[in-house]
Amino acid sequence: MGTLTDPREPLAGSSYSTPSTAPPKENSVTAERKRILVVEDDDFTSLLIQELLDFHGYSVLRAADAVDAYRLANELRPDLILMDIQLSDSSGLEATKWIREVDALRDTPIVAVTAFAMREDQRRIMESGCDAYIAKPFHTDYFLETISQLVGAEPQGEA
Ligand code: MN
Repeated sequence: MGTLTDPREPLAGSSYSTPSTAPPKENSVTAERKRILVVEDDDFTSLLIQELLDFHGYSVLRAADAVDAYRLANELRPDLILMDIQLSDSSGLEATKWIREVDALRDTPIVAVTAFAMREDQRRIMESGCDAYIAKPFHTDYFLETISQLVGAEPQGEA
């Protein structure tokens, strides 16, 4: 690694590439990344969750409301859906019921993400068709553990 630049290589333009003998960084696990649909109306929270999941080897799709969630779930058939319960246009519980009525999505794991976790809320969440719920603010380890158990994959990026 003596030189930082090789004067024989063209430096301008997008055609420049560094030849490499190292194997691609991608491995068999990342090649089959599980796809997670993140339903969250708060853009900042949504981006944080996306960053976290992406870092841990998941492929992330995002929806900001219940209608979008239903449409994207149908179009993209994610491996798991993270459902914010308090959405701007409707309840995440309502969206969960719509999704559960689609044959192809009947068994897709849905994890409710909610700021309230009173007993009555927990019951309503599970009755709506969710498989699990995570209370906000959540613990990163518990969050990733819950997801990996439901999609049947080990979380990536752990030491
Ligand atoms: Mn919300």
